[in-house]
Formats: sequence, structure tokens, C-alpha cells
Amino acid sequence: METNGRSNTVLVAPTESTDTEINPWQSAAHRFDEAAELLGLEDGMRKVLRQPAMELTVNIPVVLDDGRIEVFTGYRVQHSIARGPAKGGIRFAPDVTLDEVRALAAWMTWKCAVVNIPFGGGKGGIICEPQLMSDGELERITRRYTAEILEFIGPERDVPAPDVNTNEQTMAWIMDTYSMHKRYTVTAVVTGKPLELGGSLGRPEATGRGCLFVTMQALKKLGMAINTTRVVIQGFGNVGGMAARLMSQQGFKIVCIVEYDGAVYNKHGLNIEALQKHKRDTGSIRGFPEGEDVDKDEALLMDCDVLIPAARENVITSSNADRVKAKILCEGANGPTTFVADAILADRGVFVIPDILANAGGVTVSYFEWVQDRQGYFWNERMVNERLEEIMVKSFDDVVGYAERHKVNNRIAAYMLALDRVAIAIRKRGLYA
Ligand code: GLU
Repeated sequence: METNGRSNTVLVAPTESTDTEINPWQSAAHRFDEAAELLGLEDGMRKVLRQPAMELTVNIPVVLDDGRIEVFTGYRVQHSIARGPAKGGIRFAPDVTLDEVRALAAWMTWKCAVVNIPFGGGKGGIICEPQLMSDGELERITRRYTAEILEFIGPERDVPAPDVNTNEQTMAWIMDTYSMHKRYTVTAVVTGKPLELGGSLGRPEATGRGCLFVTMQALKKLGMAINTTRVVIQGFGNVGGMAARLMSQQGFKIVCIVEYDGAVYNKHGLNIEALQKHKRDTGSIRGFPEGEDVDKDEALLMDCDVLIPAARENVITSSNADRVKAKILCEGANGPTTFVADAILADRGVFVIPDILANAGGVTVSYFEWVQDRQGYFWNERMVNERLEEIMVKSFDDVVGYAERHKVNNRIAAYMLALDRVAIAIRKRGLYA
């Protein structure tokens, strides 16, 4: 990747949003409070679980390609390690904030508990503009960040993974940096690695595949047929692009793909592979000959059966939730719906598959990767996909069953189930004084 001459640094940390609706940490806290109240969680336990257990801020000096030194701010937050090592991705983006990383770390705790895998929750982020950085700069920022957080991560402590704007290559650099310091190869320190370095078959597809499995369960529940189901997906990267491909292979009609720079529509269903090729060739989904360009904000509100926001936070808010026409909202991204929008969607009868369930396929296969690395024994892809399906289907049934029994919406049910599992672990361990 070449730099394009624009400044490739962000020197000032973005300010935390004071708008309660769109500040992800406040959104996460709001749902936490609601679920804790309904669960009757004791006060002390609420205090323990409401705050992250550890927050680390690091200022990372990096030599840029032009010889200048720049300092980037990065974070690693461990929300909980009660059920196992902290687990969660690292994102690179100009608008990363500590509150966002805190919320994402807490969501990882709840996500791992919903799918009942033996991890706590963590998240990391670096404030930078990866699209404007060269490969060399990305490698240096990744390695130095790893060195700064070195003593806080490890297969038994905290296991990072890819997230927004990070990938297999980023994980390979983290694994190598960590291993060079330890003086032996430690593959299980990160997941989402290249196959050749202890990655797992099926990991790149896992989040999208998980979205497919839970959407199929929702269809079954609502008595809908796959081949007449129209799907709109926001995001065409690792999660959205993979969900689009897998769902269209299953017979869903992907009528619209929405990205940050536009949206493309075909009422008969888009040819996803052709659209992927068009994006590779032109750099954008716009101008796709087998579809029509439509407004990207309106696209989320078009008449469809399933809407999958698979990009960033705060997409469905109080300003558009009353116009969402989808019957099913499958949250491929973390935090795409604000807590204010939750109530509006519930009034409209939208069947929400909440993020901590819908996108848990990624961390589930990360768990499989960590298990395989530690055993030194690797599974075939069929085994990975079958075990993923088993966990996603069971977790869907757990959440939806809980919602029906306790007469709460699916999101609050997922939170209640998760909070209860984490609280049980803490009670059984007891507090060390
Ligand atoms: N970043 C992904 C998530 O938000 C994956 C995390 C992981 O695999 O640890 O779920």
C-alpha cells in the first residue's frame, strides 16, 4: 500500500461523544443496567461487571516512511477475565475512542458468554488511518503496539484477533513480535492468523457463516422461505461480503449492498461474486453494470425481509428506526443499533438477532483456532463448520427461548443470559481479598 501524500497521522485523540445515544459505552451500560435489573443482580456484582477490569493506554512512536517520527495512541481494554482469558479484536481507525473500546470489550464478555465459550472479553484499538499508511508503517505500528502491551497478552491472559481494518497479516506480525520476545513460537497468542501460522480453516468465513446460521433459524421460527427472502447488507468486507456470498449460495436474494460510498440494488438479487470482482477492479461497488446505484441511507430503509448491518456502530438510531421495514434485523457489526432505537424496533415488531449473538461466529471459530493451536492438532473444515453450526443454533435457541420465557426482547434476553453466566462464574470463584 502506498501513502497518497496526505497526512497519515491523527495527533489528537477524537473526543468522546457526550451524546448518550451514540456513545457506545453509554449504550452498552444502558442495556447492562436494564438486564441487571431484570435479573435482580446484586449491587456488588453490578459494580464488578459494569466497569472494565483493566484499561491500558499506550502512546506508540513510529518512524514513518518519510523519516518523521509520529506518536499514535492505542488502547487495550480487558472487561472481564472471570470465565477465561480476555478475548477480542484490535481495530485501526481514525475515530477509535476509549469509550468505544470499552464498550466493545464488554460486548466481547457478553458475546463469549452467550455462545458459552471459556473466554472473558477484551478489545484493542489504535487511532490511525490505515488506508493512508504503507505496509511498512502498518507493520511498525503493529509491532510497537504489541511490544507495549506485551505483558498483558498471551494465550492464558488475553488473546487478540482481527477487527475493523486489521487482518491475518496484522495477526502474523503480533504473533511474531510476541514470539520473538518469548524466544519461542507462541501461535495461540492471537487468532485469525494465516493458515500457515496456526490459523484455522473456516475462520475468515466464520462471522458471515454465523450470521447465515442464525438468520436461517429466524426464518424457520417466523415460517419464512429462503428463496423468497430479500436481504439488504451494509458492509462488503470480511463480515458483510462473506455473509452475502454464503447467503446467496444458499438461495437468499441479496437485493442491496450498502457501503460507505454508495449502495447498489437489483430486485432479482445481486450476483455477489461479480460485484466482488467489480469492487476489486474499480475500488467501489458503485457503477456495477448488473445493478442500479441507490442512496446509501435510504437503502437501509428499503422494503426487504432481512437487514444485516455489518459495518460499524450507530447505524440504526432514533432518527431512522421507525422507517426500518425489514422483518429480521441480524446485527453482523458490533453495536449497529442504539439503545434508543431498540424500543422503536420492538414497537414495529422487528425480530432482532442482537450483535452479541449474530456475529459470535467469528469468536467461536477463534476459540476453535486457540484450541487447535494449544493441542497442535488441526481440524478439517467440515468439522469447524459443523461445530460452529451446533453452537450458533444452540445459542439462538437459548436466547430466543429465554426471551419467550421471560417476556423480554431478544437483546435483553441475550444480555440476561450472558450476565447470569458471568455472575455465576464470579460467585463460584469468590472474591480474592
Ligand atoms: N473482532 C471480532 C468480534 O468482534 C472477533 C473477535 C475474536 O475473534 O476474538 O467478535
